[in-house]
Amino acid sequence: MTSSPDPLTSANALWQRLTKHQPAVAAALAMQLRALPDTWAQRELGMARPHAVLELLPASDMPMEIAPHVADWEECPACDECEGLCRYHTGYATGYEELHRPLREISAADPTVTVQDALERLEEADEAAENGVLVRAVAQLIEGAQR
Ligand SMILES: [Zn+2]
Repeated sequence: MTSSPDPLTSANALWQRLTKHQPAVAAALAMQLRALPDTWAQRELGMARPHAVLELLPASDMPMEIAPHVADWEECPACDECEGLCRYHTGYATGYEELHRPLREISAADPTVTVQDALERLEEADEAAENGVLVRAVAQLIEGAQR
């Protein structure tokens, strides 16, 4: 979704996408809105004047998206909707980076290492961290350096 600074434009775009992708949710939302009392701004958002509510800032910079994602990011309607990576692809990219950063660092330190060796070393490092071997080895290194 276009992160327009104008909440009325954003609301219109959101409604268009909601009716296209989630028509039942759009209908339920319309019913809920029609049932709100005149004091809705005060009751729901703590502000007496509805137009003052339009000045409220979003809680997150993450753009909203309603369109469903597809795994191929080049074909992803959710990515199209938010004009960047959708929530799914943001998570995917984060996981990809978390997996591949250590592999890149290991291969930069030792170009002869294979991916299998690197993954085994990462697993050994995780096990060493979990069972206290890493903490003891670091303590021995620190002691050795201080002598
Ligand atoms: Zn996407």
